[in-house]
Amino acid sequence: MESVASSLWDKILEKLKEKIPEQTFATWFFPTKGISYDNDTIIVEVPNPFFIDWIEEHYLNILSDVAFSILKSNIKISFRANKVETIRHRPELKEIISYPSPRTNLRDRYTFESYVVGNSNHFAQAAALAVAKAPAKTYNPLFIYGGVGLGKTHLMHAIGNYTLLNYRDLRVFYIPAEKFMNEMVYAIKNQETLEFKNKYRNLDMLLIDDIHFLRDKESLQEEIFHTFNALYSAQKQIVVTSDRPPREIPSLEERLISRFQWGLLVDIQAPELETRIAILKKKSEIDGFEVPEDVIFYIANNIRTNIRELEGSLVRLLALSSLTNTEINLTTAKEMIGSIIGSKKKQINFQIILKTIADFFDVSEESLTGKRRTASVVLPRQVGMYISRELTSLSLKEIGTKFGGRDHTTVLHAYDKITNLIKEDKEFSNKVDKIIRKLTS
Ligand code: ADP
Ligand code: MG
Repeated sequence: MESVASSLWDKILEKLKEKIPEQTFATWFFPTKGISYDNDTIIVEVPNPFFIDWIEEHYLNILSDVAFSILKSNIKISFRANKVETIRHRPELKEIISYPSPRTNLRDRYTFESYVVGNSNHFAQAAALAVAKAPAKTYNPLFIYGGVGLGKTHLMHAIGNYTLLNYRDLRVFYIPAEKFMNEMVYAIKNQETLEFKNKYRNLDMLLIDDIHFLRDKESLQEEIFHTFNALYSAQKQIVVTSDRPPREIPSLEERLISRFQWGLLVDIQAPELETRIAILKKKSEIDGFEVPEDVIFYIANNIRTNIRELEGSLVRLLALSSLTNTEINLTTAKEMIGSIIGSKKKQINFQIILKTIADFFDVSEESLTGKRRTASVVLPRQVGMYISRELTSLSLKEIGTKFGGRDHTTVLHAYDKITNLIKEDKEFSNKVDKIIRKLTS
């Protein structure tokens, strides 16, 4: 189980890295390695017994939380000292967790090559690529917004990485808004504000992530405003991400809003089914696993809004199947991750489903729940049955009763028919997916 343990541990570290100071991470976690994973215990090798004491005392809680957030179950993390310190220079760890270069803060794993493009993000991706190809010459600033886990940070790093391929000497710097603020506060406290200002105002490309963090933080807004002006007037590239458009960030100063609107605003939507499938395929390919088509489809079809969760389910499935030495097929996948997927499903009110279907297909609610089998209403009704089965806890019988007193075999037939149509007809699957996303977001 060594490779599973090692990649699981690396995933844990990758997340941990976002939560603790860089120096701490480098000191305590860089020289560690997951060596076995069994019975829900992961054994991690560290250089000497002192590490064990220190990590257990200071980081065990946070490590357990992080592990839980990845696996959705509790595992025991146990450490073992290994006197041979060769792992200290494990080059592949650097590769895998792509420890950001301190000069740029960029992670090399996040590139355009590993970014899957679909309808939901193609505009943002195209704008990002244009900016990366010709910094400060196309869209400036570029403002990318969208919900959690939809790929904003990935895209932003991709811009930086791509730019550096062509312009090696440009000073590119990535920073989350929150960290920017911490640095600023630190600089003020230590009377190093001049250094701080110089650092940011002399860049060629500044990537500020999660700028919605600026809400209600006046002094931070002020500093960003001046940094923005300095960079913009020197024709340097600025890229910003946020969970919403500038106008909707509460208490964001008007002058900042207007600056952000000088350039291009692009949004990233939740990915549609095809894109989710493509992302899962890409991830399994990168991790070197072959996952059957119907398993990919099962995950993609059930986790709709968040790409991070999509990936998380795949990681868990791969970890569990290697651990238990089980072949991955649809049945085992359902056993292994069905409960997580199930708990993610929202319970939606039947009336809301009915109304949404009626609106979408432009038919009346009465005709959907009526007896008539007019051609224009048959398919919408079947979609309604399918979605009711997916998103409510109603039984087949109850669904049948609600849709004009039909029996459970009719509902089952409708369910199978729609399931097949979704698999075969891309356009149709996008429609159903759109309805479901509307209902669940
Ligand atoms: P956000 O910053 O919007 O919250 P992230 O950029 O952190 O989201 O993305 C979450 C995870 O999903 C990352 O591991 C990222 O690599 C992956 N991801 C997001 N969008 C894509 C995509 N289009 N193709 C491949 N992976 C993606
Ligand atoms: Mg992000």
